Amino acid sequence: MEKHFDAVIVGGGIIGVSVGYHLTKKGLKVVVIEKKYSGSGSTGRCIGGIRMQFSTESSIKLMKESMSHFINMEQEFGFPVEFLAGGYLFLAHSKEKLNAFRSVLKLQNKLGLNVKELTSEECLELVPGLNTDGLKGGVYSPDDGQAYPFKVLRGYINGIRTGGSEVRTFTEVKGIKVVNGVVSGVELGNGEFIDSPVVINAAGPWATEVGLMAGVELPIFPEEHEALISCRYDHMFDPMVVDYRSDGCYFQQMVTGQIIGCYTPVPNKPGKQTSSSSEFLLEMSKRTSRLIPKLGDLDVLRHWGGSYSMTPDGSPIIDKTGVEGFYVAAGMSGHGFMFGPAIGKYLSQLITEGTYPFDWDEFRLDRDFSRKEIMK
Ligand SMILES: Cc1cc2nc3c(=O)[nH]c(=O)nc-3n(C[C@H](O)[C@H](O)[C@H](O)COP(=O)(O)OP(=O)(O)OC[C@H]3O[C@@H](n4cnc5c(N)ncnc54)[C@H](O)[C@@H]3O)c2cc1C
Repeated sequence: MEKHFDAVIVGGGIIGVSVGYHLTKKGLKVVVIEKKYSGSGSTGRCIGGIRMQFSTESSIKLMKESMSHFINMEQEFGFPVEFLAGGYLFLAHSKEKLNAFRSVLKLQNKLGLNVKELTSEECLELVPGLNTDGLKGGVYSPDDGQAYPFKVLRGYINGIRTGGSEVRTFTEVKGIKVVNGVVSGVELGNGEFIDSPVVINAAGPWATEVGLMAGVELPIFPEEHEALISCRYDHMFDPMVVDYRSDGCYFQQMVTGQIIGCYTPVPNKPGKQTSSSSEFLLEMSKRTSRLIPKLGDLDVLRHWGGSYSMTPDGSPIIDKTGVEGFYVAAGMSGHGFMFGPAIGKYLSQLITEGTYPFDWDEFRLDRDFSRKEIMK
């Protein structure tokens, strides 16, 4: 087996394979090392939502780039990834929430997003059966949407392999070698050493541990989340319906007819164990049917647990580190699936050209982490 690569990527989730794909397209020979199978981490446990409605210029620019990749994936990969621009509808059940959404509308529109404020009646037109009790209105963009994570992973992996690079599954990185502040390769669980001048930490919920292998501390904390999916139903509504109340939830109908959704536990549950609970199943059923009463009759097919990798300010860390050649793309804070395509493109630019595509302060490792994302 090959022992030298231009870059080693630790982690075969969306971030690792997207970075691997883009570096391969730039002519580098890379290897993605994945301790289980691709998608076994957070990516295979997410609900596939993709949105450009963020509250900062840099996140919106990142997502505009990602969205352009999702739109073109069928052509690029040669098969559909179940992409649908069904929109995202954010509901506001208080004046404060509505004002918070309004406060970013101008920026979103200035950056070219097709976001508009809706009355509660317009929300109901968009989502038939929506319970409008207490609803003050919402914000909506028809250009946001969804895709199927396993198909997106497959497309990137195919591209990595046909481009002459490698993805090694069921192989664990156990150590990262750093000599005089410069990375020189990784040690695998089987004792093998792969030498490389570039190592990328794309280890999702395990990014903190992988960072420490190179002596780099990362402010990333895994949180437990759960999700469920129903059986297939005829088409009911298009957008992802988002209710950010502390007892709210978010869900969408997939291209293939299933309702898929989750909620953010309050208080947050630190950790990364992935079992699912009957408490979640009951609570999610209650919250979903409160928003759309007819969904109370859904047959649930499956529910599962997964991890969000959180940073203190809710934005990812996509940057070089104090160790030369060691990069990090982690702390996705619940948005890594949608950020993945753009991160692959822009991190490969940083690695090969040393430049950031636009104002990158929001994603830098040495930033002030006190800002908070409003579209949450
Ligand atoms: C319930 C739920 C719903 C979500 N919904 C959405 C959504 O709608 N939209 C969205 O954009 N995001 C969503 N997310 C978040 C999204 O899933 C993550 O942000 C994203 O998948 C992170 O991708 P990743 O590649 O960083 O991490 P992962 O997919 O976790 O990949 C990291 C990989 O690294 C591997 N690894 C770790 N350590 C090592 C090692 N030492 N050696 C080798 N391999 C290693 C792991 O096995 C893992 O496969 C959701 C998450 C959850 C849990």
